This record gives sequence, structure tokens and C-alpha cells, in this order.
Amino acid sequence: MVILLIFFILKCEHPAVRSVTQLNLHQELNRNNSFLQTPLLSPKKTADSKVYTVQNIQEFQEGSEDAFLKKTMIVKFNLALKNKLQQYQQVKVLPKPQGKEQPKPQIKVQPLAGKPIVYLTFDDGPNHELNQILDILKQKKAKGTFFLIESQIWHYQDAVKRLVREGNYPGLHSVTHNKNKVYSSPANFINEMEQTRKTLLKVTGVDSKLIRAPYGSKPYMTDAFRNIVAQHGMKLWDWNIDTIDWKYQSSNPNQIVVNAINGFGRVNKKGPIIILMHVSKGTASVLPQIIDYFYSRGYQCPAYNPQRPVMMNFWNDTRL
Ligand SMILES: [Zn+2]
Repeated sequence: MVILLIFFILKCEHPAVRSVTQLNLHQELNRNNSFLQTPLLSPKKTADSKVYTVQNIQEFQEGSEDAFLKKTMIVKFNLALKNKLQQYQQVKVLPKPQGKEQPKPQIKVQPLAGKPIVYLTFDDGPNHELNQILDILKQKKAKGTFFLIESQIWHYQDAVKRLVREGNYPGLHSVTHNKNKVYSSPANFINEMEQTRKTLLKVTGVDSKLIRAPYGSKPYMTDAFRNIVAQHGMKLWDWNIDTIDWKYQSSNPNQIVVNAINGFGRVNKKGPIIILMHVSKGTASVLPQIIDYFYSRGYQCPAYNPQRPVMMNFWNDTRL
């Protein structure tokens, strides 16, 4: 019976149980515990095989059943309630509003998943600066999505392995990065991406299907290019905040921060926010400030999640 009861509570199959909140669980426990303080009336009866939900127990307390039976059930039920309460550790109880009437306090669940997201993306790696970028991401508890060039994956294998090990996501960014070559035909484009995919797979064991077209998908990625990308089951990511970091690397890295903030001001906050940066020294020097800015606005910075792909391409092609 107890196993059945606990199973029932934890699975939350019953509507009465499903609606249980942290608050009424506490109330339930308090009420049950105070009932348990009263003297036993008839200690010889045992519990039957009925499964008790919160609602059942309430009816039970108000009914004419035997006190010992009630207590047996409630002691067991309280164990299940305590288990359930442990699942509410992330729940925050909001303070009661001031006023004549005191409405029931509202319960608000605030999981990490509820925070809005900015995806930090870094192109043209791996290279000498990758480890510095990874150090900052680790220190700031942020993740990056990196679009990698095939030949450089071979040259910086340890850094790419670290990138993956630390929870960042590796994407594909072509072999040549030469617009006259990579866009010479749809077949050539997809061959470059497939070659990069296979190299990454060999080095890291990650089979990535996320690509970024060199210089962005407009104007190069016309229908024929996008069709072949879709046929290969790949996703194409552009961006909606451009830091133009390549331009300000050495002359004025602070401008990269300004561009990120200005871009954030203009971007549609309802859609995904993807910020374009590069694996380079100037960007690394201001990356902490950029991450701090997004944190201060209540955002989190996770990596691309292939389990829950997000669409972000300049063509609004929903296949990609
Ligand atoms: Zn690039």
C-alpha cells in the first residue's frame, strides 16, 4: 500500500496531487502533525488498501473513520508529502501583497530554463586565442557556440577537445572560408561542410550538424544552396547582433562592447538572440564585460542545444 501510495504521489497522476503546491503541502503536513498529537482512540485497526491522495486525506480527517486508522494513514502519507516537498526546493514563495484582503500567496517556479537566452557565437577558430576565450567562458559560467574551420581543427586538436569537454558547442564553418570557392556551387558548399563535419567527428566524437556560412548566409545562400543544406539535415545559423569585432580588434576593443550593447538595444527580444564574435585577442579582452552586461540584464548564455534547435537564418527558412 505504501509503495502504491508513494508511487502515486511521485508520479503525480491524480489531478488532486498534480495541483499540490509547496504551500498547501506545508499546510497539509502541519494539519496532519497536529492531528497526530491527539490521543489514540482505538489502536487495533489497520489501514486498508485504499490509495490516499491529498483530497482523500482531507475527506478522511473530516469523516467519521476510526482515529487509529486515520493516524496510520497520515503518518505514511506525511512521508510521501515530505518526498514531494523535496521536489519543490527550487520554488520561491512570493511575499504577500499589502492590503485589506490577503489573497493566497502566489507560487512561482524559477528554473534556469526560464531565463531569456543570449547565444555567444565565435567564428573562425580554433586558433591561438581559443584557450583564452575558453578560460573566460569557464570563469563566467557561460558557454559558447563555435564555428570551426576544418584545417584548424587538425592544428588545435587539444583546444577543440577542451571546447567540447567544457560544454561548449562546435559548429562547422567550411574548409576554405573563401567565398569564391565555398559558394562556387551548392555541391561544393555542402562538400566543405561535410568534410568539416567528418574532421570534427574524428577529433572530438561530436557529430555536429550546425553550420554557419562564411560571411553570413546572405546573399550567397540562395534556394539551391539552402535546399542541399536541408537535404543533409543541417541547421544554418546567422546572427542578429553583430559586434563587428574583426574591425576593432586592435584599434578600439571597447567599441566591441558598445556594439554588443547597441545591438542588444535594437534586437527583437521575443526571438532568439545570437551575437556574432570571432576567436581573437581583442574580443577576448572585452568578453568578460560583454557577458557581465547580458547577465546584468537577466540573461543566461548557454551553448546551442541540438536537442532543441533554434531557427536563426537571414532567409527565415524554417527547414534550417
Ligand atoms: Zn568566418
